[in-house]
Order: sequence, then C-alpha cells, then structure tokens
Amino acid sequence: MAEKPRVVIIGAGLAGLTAARCLHAASAGDFFDLCVVEAGHRIGGRVLTSEFAGDRIEMGATWIHGIDGSPIHAVAADIGALAGSASVPWERMDGFPSDPLTVAEGGTVVDPLLVVDPITSLYCGLMDSARDGDAPVEPKRPGVGPFLRRGLQEYRVSRGDKGADVGGGWSLEDMEEAVFALHEFAERVCTSADDLSDLDLAAEGEYRDYPGDHVTIANGYSRIIEHLASALSPATILLGRRVRRIEWRLGGDDGGPVKLHFDGGENLTMTADHVIVTVSLGVLKAGLGKEGGGETSGLEFSPALPERKREAIRRLGFGVVNKLFMEMGGTDETRFPFLQMAFAPPTKEAKRTVPAWMRKTGSICPIYRGSRVLLAWFAGTEALELEALTDEEIISGVSATLDAFLPPTAAAARVQRVKRSGWGRDPLFLGSYSYVAVGSSSDDLDAMAEPLAGARVSAVVPTPELLFAGEATHKSHYSTTHGAYLSGVREATRLLRHYVPKLCPSAAAT
Ligand SMILES: Cc1cc2nc3c(=O)[nH]c(=O)nc-3n(C[C@H](O)[C@H](O)[C@H](O)COP(=O)(O)OP(=O)(O)OC[C@H]3O[C@@H](n4cnc5c(N)ncnc54)[C@H](O)[C@@H]3O)c2cc1C
Repeated sequence: MAEKPRVVIIGAGLAGLTAARCLHAASAGDFFDLCVVEAGHRIGGRVLTSEFAGDRIEMGATWIHGIDGSPIHAVAADIGALAGSASVPWERMDGFPSDPLTVAEGGTVVDPLLVVDPITSLYCGLMDSARDGDAPVEPKRPGVGPFLRRGLQEYRVSRGDKGADVGGGWSLEDMEEAVFALHEFAERVCTSADDLSDLDLAAEGEYRDYPGDHVTIANGYSRIIEHLASALSPATILLGRRVRRIEWRLGGDDGGPVKLHFDGGENLTMTADHVIVTVSLGVLKAGLGKEGGGETSGLEFSPALPERKREAIRRLGFGVVNKLFMEMGGTDETRFPFLQMAFAPPTKEAKRTVPAWMRKTGSICPIYRGSRVLLAWFAGTEALELEALTDEEIISGVSATLDAFLPPTAAAARVQRVKRSGWGRDPLFLGSYSYVAVGSSSDDLDAMAEPLAGARVSAVVPTPELLFAGEATHKSHYSTTHGAYLSGVREATRLLRHYVPKLCPSAAAT
C-alpha cells in the first residue's frame, strides 16, 4: 500500500481513546495514520475526576458497575488505580453507603420495620423482575413507571388498613408513597430518564451489569483515561478541534472519501479514509436539528445519515444527570447521616420551604462515612434547573431542605460551598447518558453501531467509511464506561478486520 490509511476518531472520551489505543497497539503503531480530534480542551469526556474540600470526587462517571468481567475494572486493577493513598480520601472509598436514615418532611423518622424495609424490598423485587425480563408489559403503558405503580397498588390492596396514622400527621399510605417515590427518584438517576413512564420496560430485561461489587476508583476515573492516552504520541490527539460537519461518500479523489469541517472557518478541514464518530447521543440528536436548517451545536452529516440511523438517534432516550457536592461547616459536620428524604405529598399542608428542584432528589449523603462533603444526585428537569441556579440559590435551597428533615442540632451544620456538574447545557455533551425510551428498542442501539460504507461500489468488501462508537452504541451495556470501552474495541476490531482479516478473526467478544 502506498500510503497508510488515515483514521480520524472524533472525541477523546473513553470510546475514542480505547479505539485509538487498540488501533495503535494492534498495528504496532505503524499501519494507520491515526488522529483523535477533540472539541474540548481536555481528554476524558464524561469521565472527569476533580477535587473538592480535600477529597477526590468524580464529576461524571463514578462507579465500576460490577467487577467480575468488567474491562474497566481489569484496566484499573492492572494499572494499580484501585489502591488508594491515605493522603487523599476519595468518593465512596467505603463502598456503597448503607444504614440510611429515612426521614419524612417535617422531621418524623420513618419506621424501618413498618415502612422502609417492606417498601424497599417491594421496590427492589419489582425492579429485579424487570431486569430479569419477567415483568409483564402492558401494551398501552409499556414504561417502567406504570409497572412500578401497579406493583405499589397491588401491595396496598393486599395489605389493607391504609388509613393508619404513623405519626407526625402522616398516614401509612402517604408514608409508603413517599418512600416508594424516593426509590423512583434513584431510578431516574440510574437511567437518566426524567419520567419513568418514558423508560421502556421490556428493554430493562436486556440491560446487563457485571456481577460482583460496585466500586469506585481510588486514584480517580481519570487514571483510566490517562492510561489509554499514554500509548499514543501527544501529537495524535488534537484538542480544541470541534467538528461541525462531516462530508462523506466523496469518492476519495480529494485526499480521502471523508472530509471533516471544523469550527473556526471554512478552510479548517481534514480528510480521512475512515472516521470513528464517538460523540454523545445528545450531540447527534442536536445534529438532526441542524438538518432542518436549525442552528444548534450538534454534528451535521452530508449527505444526511440513513433514515434507520436517524430514527434510532431520534427515538433513543438521552437524559440529564448531575451531581451536587456540598462542603459542610458547623458543629457536627463529620456525623452527617445517609439521609433518605420522604417528601410530603402535594396535598399535605406542610410548610413548603423546600424548593421544587430539590423535591425529586431522594438522598443526601456524605461521600464516605465521616466526610464533610455531601453529595446529592439530580436527574431530568431538576438536573437542568440545578445548572441554571447560582451557588447562593443552591446553598439556600439545600439549607431549607436540611432544616425540613433534620433536628436542629444536625441541621446546624451549614452548607459553605458547592460544586456541581453541568452536563445538560454543555454543548459537547448535551446530556449525561442514554436509555431505551418507550417507542425505541435495543434494535435502535444496534442501528447506532452500524458502520456506513462508502461510495466505492467496485470494492468486494464494502469499506467502512463512517464507524460509530460510544456508550449509546452498545446493546446491553449502554450508558456506562464499560459500554463505551467495549464499543471502542469493537470499532477498532472492525477496521483491523477490514485490512487484516486473519489478524482479527472475531469481534464477537465485544
Ligand atoms: C454524572 C454522570 C455520572 C455517570 N456515572 C457513571 C458511573 O457511575 N458508571 C459508569 O459506568 N458510567 C457512568 N456515567 C456514564 C459514562 O461517563 C459514559 O457512558 C462514558 O464516559 C461515555 O464515554 P464516550 O466515549 O461514549 O462519550 P464521551 O465521554 O461523551 O466522549 C465523547 C467526546 O466527544 C467530544 N465531542 C463532542 N462533540 C464533538 C465535536 N463536534 N467534535 C469533536 N469532539 C466532540 C466530547 O468533548 C467528548 O470528549 C456517568 C456519566 C455522567 C455524566
């Protein structure tokens, strides 16, 4: 071959860097002319380790979801990133928090035996059956939300005596409702679906986590990113290069069949034989808006992507999840509980001091036992609203919330400073992670992953000209770091197989 095939990868997140590393390693760094173009001024994408009040925190990806068989866990273990140092404590270094203190709005502690435990096991049982694929799907209401509500309703009917008073002016039924709701709020965070009735129930049965513990990375998730990038020469990754438009099927006479147009002027272009697109589903969705002549920050394709892929981009869900870190000061700041909040129903005449944007956040919890940094997760509408507030508004809203749930001594610990993520409005992401929305299916995730061939009809084997990786392209591990990683391996393998079939006989493991 006279010239090396030129491969450009769009995005230096987990998927893009994994694909680059695989292509570099498998070809001894010499077969491809490889380049990663990244719009931001850092690598890592939705992986971003930071520090706050002396603790190591994650602004994006936080957990390795199951350690047995996870490629992320394998990498983290290989590079020694799992063993922490005593000097920098890290988020959830003591594992998943246990011993929640569930409190109802107004300050009544919710009885664990009467309410918290039975409702929690009801909820977990329902979600287990959804994940096992055993949950009956109602054709007219195929979402997770209605399924969960049916389960709660059946539980109430079987229990009877719903009017019992459980203290603090709460009826048993209202208390159960509020505790059930806090689990639903956590589900919104896990899936990024603003409304659980928009989360497809059947697809839950196809989603997979790895078995084993869920753990965080002592040295920070960004260590995985640094490791992936370390194999590449610094010149391979170009930062601050935002692709605005991809021209493809050009025939290849003008340097390559694909031409990338960058922000910053008509002359800023780059040609390639193959492009691996790893931008978020949010950025792809925004690009569809551009097709109608709209001015958005998304990525545009010319010619437009085939209808099957456009439909998949349109139908799949991509929601917003944000993290809010709060540094506490005051008397008892190191004894803050894992607080689960049971909010009063709208009909209840409670003093409504808690702002609306806090009312779908189920818990506030120290990032490890004894830390003076607290964390709350937000999803959907409330996550977007959080991005628009000032720090002062957040501090005052959180303080009002703590006052509504905790006794004065504990609530005396004041929020001093906050730090939050802002994935929803960031034009390089436009959301946090994907989910299978009602009206979509896991077939759409397959459609996301399909490569697109070029215009050279004479070729015996169609040349994959545009390839697609990223968490939203993995059928069973979408929304996760390992899904992104596996998709990067998959697309690198696809290209290697195209050139050297014997070297890479199967991509099935991905
Ligand atoms: C708050 C939050 C919590 C999470 N928690 C977890 C968790 O606990 N466990 C877990 O497994 N996963 C978690 N995730 C999901 C995980 O972070 C992602 O699935 C994964 O990092 C996605 O990687 P990616 O390579 O597919 O995409 P990205 O990381 O989005 O990479 C794409 C890259 O493309 C760049 N880009 C965008 N547009 C352009 C353009 N036009 N031109 C050039 N470059 C562009 C972006 O800047 C970005 O760097 C979380 C995510 C968030 C936001």
